[in-house]
Amino acid sequence: MQTVTTLGVLRKAVDALRGDGATLALVPTMGALHEGHLALVRAAKARADHVAVSIFVNPRQFGPKEDFGAYPRQLARDSALLAAEGVALLWAPAPGEVYPEGYATNVSVAGVGDGLCGADRPGHFDGVATVVLKLFNQVRPDMAFFGEKDWQQLAVIRRMARDLDLTRPAAEAIHGFPIVREADGLAMSSRNAYLSPEQRSAAAALPAAMQGAIAAIASGTPVPQALDGLRAGLIAAGFDSLDYAELRDADSLAPLGRSAPGARLFVAARIGGTRLIDNMAIS
Ligand code: AMP
Repeated sequence: MQTVTTLGVLRKAVDALRGDGATLALVPTMGALHEGHLALVRAAKARADHVAVSIFVNPRQFGPKEDFGAYPRQLARDSALLAAEGVALLWAPAPGEVYPEGYATNVSVAGVGDGLCGADRPGHFDGVATVVLKLFNQVRPDMAFFGEKDWQQLAVIRRMARDLDLTRPAAEAIHGFPIVREADGLAMSSRNAYLSPEQRSAAAALPAAMQGAIAAIASGTPVPQALDGLRAGLIAAGFDSLDYAELRDADSLAPLGRSAPGARLFVAARIGGTRLIDNMAIS
């Protein structure tokens, strides 16, 4: 595996990998890798001749009071994990390489980027869309892989790819991968490392409460009542607050007042200083 930190070297490395028509997949990450990330790498390997992974803790997607400084950075460990998976290229630029002096451009995706995490984290999806478009232009992959853990992020990136007529990758070559979970159901996340042992065991209540709400809706409980139950259950389990618990259409992300085909449950909840998100299909 070649590790690259500057754009000039990246271009040469990508050209060399492409060789005579080999395909290249990109898996963008912020590092502190876990099995969820590695599952994306394996899915990418199954589809493309070569896999590139980016590790970049993107300052533009963190709010001023968020955890940019504290976000776990463990490049040596991540690099060993990726090499063992057969990744060809690790793109790990310094912030100054991505946002040099004078950088002034912002990509903003309305609609799917509004509401849910977009409402609680102003500017977050602008930061995500901007960096992902840059990563796409830097690596120019044939396809890219993202986790459904960040369902709204995936919707934002697909919208951007359609709206801006991207070709590397094209919108149809942006692949989603199902959420990888711990044995107790908690969605894997680099931020789970922030949890104390007590908070970690309480956090398993999040997927359990979501499944409970989904079962209640399936058996006829009105959606508002099921979501009230979910909120109460999470607070009783030790969560401090919820940013949202909402039913939305999986594709358009339009809010739904009742269960419908394609409905998905989205939750963001805080425990201690840690904000956890999850989403599940209703049926
Ligand atoms: P991050 O490093 O958190 O920015 O995540 C990089 C990519 O990995 C994103 O596309 C995430 O959606 C995906 N990802 C993170 N956690 C999981 C998970 N538990 N299951 C599947 N994909 C995940």
